[in-house]
Amino acid sequence: MYKGSCLCGSIQFELDGNITDIIHCHCSLCRKASGSAYATNGFINAQDLKLTDHSDSLTFYESSEGKRKYFCRTCGSPLYSSNAQSRERYRLRIGALDSDILERPLSHNFVTSKANWEDLNVELPRYHRHEPGRK
Ligand SMILES: [Zn+2]
Ligand SMILES: [Zn+2]
Repeated sequence: MYKGSCLCGSIQFELDGNITDIIHCHCSLCRKASGSAYATNGFINAQDLKLTDHSDSLTFYESSEGKRKYFCRTCGSPLYSSNAQSRERYRLRIGALDSDILERPLSHNFVTSKANWEDLNVELPRYHRHEPGRK
């Protein structure tokens, strides 16, 4: 059982099942949807997701017909997406999980669409917190 939530905590969820096909997607749509270099998403069975949303914060943006991107209207956190073509599964935003998971990402996808400032081959310094000198 994995647990997850949005940034403000209005939406809590439990995932009672595994996650498959986790990938880092660098396509331009995923970069916008995540506001970052790439989105990390994986498939889950729709029936495995138990969501608690007492303040009615869950909403969606229909990015194209039948494709809904669900997020928290209070804090903006992306949570999962659904596709009318395959209702039995969702695409979970892995960053929304609070639990450690057993599954691991398989690949970086759409790397030809990646941001030009993202260099997958460069080793950057690593810190346990903010970089030294951050105000
Ligand atoms: Zn929220
Ligand atoms: Zn993508």
